[in-house]
Amino acid sequence: MTHTSPEFELIARHFTRPAANAVLGVGDDCALLDITHGMDLAVSTDTMVSGTHFFPDVNPENLGHKTLAVNLSDMAAMGATPYWAMLALTLPKVDHDWLAAFAKGFFDLAEEFNVSLVGGDTTRGPLALTVTIMGEVPAGAALRRSGAKVGNDVWVSGSIGDAALAIAHHHGRVKLEPADHEEVAMRLYEPTPRVALGQALRGMATAAIDISDGLLADLGHICRLSGVGATVELASIPVSAIGAKHIGSEEGRNIVVAGGDDYELCFTTHPNSRESIQDLTKMLDVRLTRVGQIKRGKGVSLLGLDGKAAKIDGRGYDHFSAAS
Ligand code: ADP
Ligand code: MG
Repeated sequence: MTHTSPEFELIARHFTRPAANAVLGVGDDCALLDITHGMDLAVSTDTMVSGTHFFPDVNPENLGHKTLAVNLSDMAAMGATPYWAMLALTLPKVDHDWLAAFAKGFFDLAEEFNVSLVGGDTTRGPLALTVTIMGEVPAGAALRRSGAKVGNDVWVSGSIGDAALAIAHHHGRVKLEPADHEEVAMRLYEPTPRVALGQALRGMATAAIDISDGLLADLGHICRLSGVGATVELASIPVSAIGAKHIGSEEGRNIVVAGGDDYELCFTTHPNSRESIQDLTKMLDVRLTRVGQIKRGKGVSLLGLDGKAAKIDGRGYDHFSAAS
């Protein structure tokens, strides 16, 4: 874009902030970053498209938060420390009120995690947002999806299912009380990336992933890349007080185990790490729950409340309900 365009003014007004941790931030042809010796550079990109990843009338401040949060969550899942972000914005029109609110949501979260926006791109088109996040992790110490071993415990952070309940409510698949809806909607719009947890799990977790597609699907990715299978016990999946009201119904169970957007971490550890995990719970003030075990074989099976297991595939929970 030329520098006389309204888009250039837009960048200057909304997206140019001092980047204390960069050699050079927004304004030149490239940002310049100084990488610490002995660290691996961790890089990830996530795009959010209006109508696909968020409702078109979403509150822009929530959207600014979420756009960065989903990327911070990828850093968390690798055990990396995020430092720098790039933001590619595609906007149907220039609406300064909307942009100011979006920028507030984005920068409030960026400040909380000491992340600097060091560059990006601004174009006209249907609303879409792409963030590239960069961070560091000690060389060789990143948490990968591929390290789960037979006999490992499977853990999740926080509680599972609230974000998916908010989406299901929107689509009329469940009906939530207004106060409950407000609470789960915040889980959907303003997820908490588990960055400190990811870092603390370095050297302890054998594999990790953040839960964006749903617990069973994302644990399935760990299994596939680790060449193992897993069993998850439905009864042990941590749900919020609101989730607990819905887990009794088949639809509610489906939402909890197969719904995504929680951005909690799912990770595996050797059973002799159980005490250390309890310590982490206290140290980081985050709920960590053992939900299953890594087994020989392939895929994730869900052990239902009736004690019967069912094989799960992508849409998998249907198999379970059909079998139970
Ligand atoms: P170029 O023509 O070289 O691509 P641009 O006009 O697109 O330059 O961008 C000018 C500067 O503003 C660059 O440093 C770029 O990284 C930054 N920038 C552009 N859009 C954004 C954005 N949405 N957020 C942050 N920085 C941006
Ligand atoms: Mg450009």
